[in-house]
Amino acid sequence: MQKKVDIEDLNSIRSESNFKDYSHIKIGNNVQYLFLPRSMSDLVLIFDFASKNKLAIFPIGGGSNVLLGNVKNRVLFLDRKLPKICEINSDEVLVSANYNINSLILKLKKSNLGGLEFLATIPAHIGGIIKMNAGAFGKNISEYLKWIKVLNKKGEIEIIQKEKIEFSYRKSSIIDYILKAAFKLEIKSEEEIDSQINKFRRIREKTQPINFPNLGCIFKNPKGESAGKIIDECGLKGEKFGDAEISQKHANFIINKGNACFDDVKNLIKLIQAKVHAKTGIELELEITVLN
Ligand SMILES: Cc1cc2nc3c(=O)[nH]c(=O)nc-3n(C[C@H](O)[C@H](O)[C@H](O)COP(=O)(O)OP(=O)(O)OC[C@H]3O[C@@H](n4cnc5c(N)ncnc54)[C@H](O)[C@@H]3O)c2cc1C
Repeated sequence: MQKKVDIEDLNSIRSESNFKDYSHIKIGNNVQYLFLPRSMSDLVLIFDFASKNKLAIFPIGGGSNVLLGNVKNRVLFLDRKLPKICEINSDEVLVSANYNINSLILKLKKSNLGGLEFLATIPAHIGGIIKMNAGAFGKNISEYLKWIKVLNKKGEIEIIQKEKIEFSYRKSSIIDYILKAAFKLEIKSEEEIDSQINKFRRIREKTQPINFPNLGCIFKNPKGESAGKIIDECGLKGEKFGDAEISQKHANFIINKGNACFDDVKNLIKLIQAKVHAKTGIELELEITVLN
């Protein structure tokens, strides 16, 4: 009979840190099960533990799009200590899901490969970017994707071709843990890539409150409209709960001005949704994932 994986078997990879240390908005509590796997065999143990105890698995990449409270009865793990790979072959790259997007853009540039510059400066990892179908300036990551290699809930490894995945605005049908991804890129000169990176960086610096911890856009844009503009027109810029504040620079960003906590951000989200609905009838849908 197969031995049941106990929490003691995972002690060496269990994180004792508060999730705040890993969250891009610097908010987080003590999560019940938070792991830092270093290898594929650590991952297998984590998946086994979750399966045997009937707990859902929630991977964390850059932590730039998740707001966590006191998460219980879920198995969370951070991908940052897993091995990183990036193999370039002609105009294609095979990259591990824990690769930071900015490091990838710079590495590809040295091989005269571009296309992903629209994501420059986002503090995210490739897995999170694919899962969220991240995009900006009219482009989405799915346009460059070829296939992904995943670890499914049964602990099996599978390759899923892009055509088998449904991608829409900030959404994908992926339910498994992405281990690696293959992309087809554009051949470009280093100068062209640098100029694109600088162009997008300048726009973000001008329009986003990047000097404060944040989670990017909190809400999805309603069809044909801008959530930031709607929130601004409802007069909500500068509204706050504790140290969480609706940015004066971009109304779809909530910033942490010091010691904001999970409830501060949740209260601000509820306030925005209620006021926008009362004034416009629009129901703003969250882009970030909130787990309490
Ligand atoms: C300053 C700033 C600017 C931003 N600008 C943009 C932008 O222009 N466009 C945009 O789309 N987003 C933007 N974002 C939001 C965010 O960066 C993206 O959603 C990004 O895709 C999240 O990646 P991550 O690695 O941080 O994922 P996380 O926040 O760690 O996780 C996000 C989701 O992906 C899942 N996930 C993570 N890794 C994996 C994996 N390997 N396999 C399966 N699922 C996984 C998580 O479980 C979670 O559901 C911005 C955020 C910030 C802070």
